[in-house]
Amino acid sequence: MPVTGLDPYDDQNIFAKILRGEIPNKTVYQDEFVLAFHDIAPQAPVHVLVIPKGAYVSARDFAARASDQDIAGFWRAVGRVAADLGLETEGYRLLSNHGLNAGQEVPHFHVHLFGGGPLGRMIQPS
Ligand code: AMP
Repeated sequence: MPVTGLDPYDDQNIFAKILRGEIPNKTVYQDEFVLAFHDIAPQAPVHVLVIPKGAYVSARDFAARASDQDIAGFWRAVGRVAADLGLETEGYRLLSNHGLNAGQEVPHFHVHLFGGGPLGRMIQPS
């Protein structure tokens, strides 16, 4: 089923299963707010996903419903992961897909963190 970004949260989505430990992942970092792990199909030399531990479908859902503390904790963790991976000097890209036009596949809010080399133009025509 396509992800609209406005769907109700589905606790059978693959990232919910990863958070529950039902599916393995290559963890980069975790704390009380986030889990960060390597993408299973990397699209850059470094491709890490950062997900909140709470149940949010999309960026919009996270921004609307998460507590200020959880939002701050999430974004601080994103910055920390990038720094821990040694990406700050050369730079990196953050991306979050929301719904149909963006091709969101997994209906649990996540930020892609790309780095490790030149990343090309911001959006590649399909
Ligand atoms: P999106 O299109 O923004 O929803 O991206 C979903 C991402 O999750 C894709 O880049 C997938 O390669 C990645 N992905 C799917 N399943 C797994 C998994 N089991 N472990 C790590 N990454 C995954």
